[in-house]
Amino acid sequence: MYRSHSCGELRATDINTEVTLAGWVQRIKDLGSLNWVVIRDRYGITQLVFDEGRSAKELLENSKKLGREFVIQIKGTVIERESKNPNMPTGDIEVLVSGLTILNEAQTPPFTIEDETDGGEDIRMKYRYLDIRRNPVKNNLMFRHKVGMLVRNYLSTNDFIEVETPYLIKSTPEGARDFVVPSRMNEGQFYALPQSPQTFKQLLMVGGMDKYFQIVKCFRDEDLRADRQPEFTQIDCEMAFVEQEDILHIFEGLTRHLLSEIKGVDIADFPRMTYDEAMKTYGNDKPDIRFGMKFGELNEVAQHKDFKVFNDAELVVGIAVPNGSSYTRKEIDKLIDWVKRPQVGALGMVYVKCNEDGTYKSSVDKFYDQEDLAKWAEVTGANPGDLICVLSGSTNKVRAQLSALRMELAERLGLRNPEEFAPLWVVDFPLLEWDEDTERYHAMHHPFTSPKPEDIALLDTKPGDVRANAYDLVLNGNEIGGGSIRIHDKATQALMFDHLGFTPEEAKAQFGFLMDAFEYGAPPHGGIAFGFDRLVSILGGQETIRDFIAFPKNNSGRDVMIDAPAIIDKEQLKELHIKLDL
Ligand code: ASP
Repeated sequence: MYRSHSCGELRATDINTEVTLAGWVQRIKDLGSLNWVVIRDRYGITQLVFDEGRSAKELLENSKKLGREFVIQIKGTVIERESKNPNMPTGDIEVLVSGLTILNEAQTPPFTIEDETDGGEDIRMKYRYLDIRRNPVKNNLMFRHKVGMLVRNYLSTNDFIEVETPYLIKSTPEGARDFVVPSRMNEGQFYALPQSPQTFKQLLMVGGMDKYFQIVKCFRDEDLRADRQPEFTQIDCEMAFVEQEDILHIFEGLTRHLLSEIKGVDIADFPRMTYDEAMKTYGNDKPDIRFGMKFGELNEVAQHKDFKVFNDAELVVGIAVPNGSSYTRKEIDKLIDWVKRPQVGALGMVYVKCNEDGTYKSSVDKFYDQEDLAKWAEVTGANPGDLICVLSGSTNKVRAQLSALRMELAERLGLRNPEEFAPLWVVDFPLLEWDEDTERYHAMHHPFTSPKPEDIALLDTKPGDVRANAYDLVLNGNEIGGGSIRIHDKATQALMFDHLGFTPEEAKAQFGFLMDAFEYGAPPHGGIAFGFDRLVSILGGQETIRDFIAFPKNNSGRDVMIDAPAIIDKEQLKELHIKLDL
């Protein structure tokens, strides 16, 4: 038996008990005739004492051969500590060691295995197994497990069944590139790794599974934006015989359950907003509604003077920054520089200081009088003491820019409290989205999303106006889930493929299996998928998903620990029928 107790377990009630512990050497304090060692395992730490007076001299000598991160096993007696440590669960006791075995030696770790480590991100990733010994990472992984269990329990209780779907499949379009795997047995042919189990979960509905879920890996070969992983985990779900309302109801329940179990918060309100409203009011389809600074569209009150910049703009829009009128000229210039950064891309910014005395001072006083500016204040909801920031340009761009500014200011003003949770359903997404590069409509969600029946007639005349039965769940400005009611008849699916520019032959080659399945009694169905990594990180009160993934990839999609991706040898390439022209 390697151990009788864990290193986090012993209390004052265990005093005088003979115990065996096993773990890693966390710390060594050598006081000559007295040696203290702290031993650690997943469950905690315990202080060990090697005392010349009370334990054998030889043992004390042995303990001096220890180094940090050695794996040891000790036998000893639990004794009361002289100076107790109330911050440590085992702080009332220590173990007087009577036997020590070194189970394995260890090199000095490249960074300290402490909560506050001296190791930078790169070195921690290279030695991730050492990083995982640290409390912050270990606790995050345990937290992830807990969230996973809560999800599984909630869904199982609600009659969902977890079914595994294959990883070696054919492309499932979710708007990214596929990772592909060459087939040795089928020369020149490739599998694609799933961007999501979308088509399989729909087939499970045709198969009568009724309620499916899976906590599942998905793979998307995207240019990695900050905090994205090429492989990530979804809570993937599908339900048969449901309307949008049924799905929102169940997943509102899941979100409430998680927030109440983990955070102890009961969400009173689960508001909904249409996509159009979200874009108009927050310039964004995943608005953080924990704070105001709603958009005020100013075209009507700003395009009647000689200010050409505004007159030429498709949209003039502003936000009122609370208490911003006290910003100095320098501070405002800095804000202007911020919106002009290439990442934001505004050409400039007009501002209005709303003075406490009810007067206004703007950067465009040449064109606008007090009466004009009072109207701007009214539209943006600005109070005396606020600062109105106004951007102008083409609608989509300017909305994205002002939304970035709104989030930045909220961050600076401390309005994004990680302990406050504000979920929001965004509904009625457009079915199609115009893509400038390919000059074609793309499915905004994916090609299996059902149009709203009342909008189908618009497909031929105004495809951009067709709304989908699609919804996203937003939490604190992050999209944590998205889904839709699906098309479940062959004719509508064929119509959709046609509008997405697939010829009937292409559609058949790629999705014939789904169209065929629709001929055998597909029930009405719909579903949703939550991004599990993001959900866990938000519930854990942190922003980066990497911190909640055991072995994450870096920003270039590399695993620096195992050094992947890597070159494979010629033999292997040959077997796979791949000729590289290097
Ligand atoms: N497959 C979708 C996604 O990965 C989710 C869904 O429609 O259920 O975003």
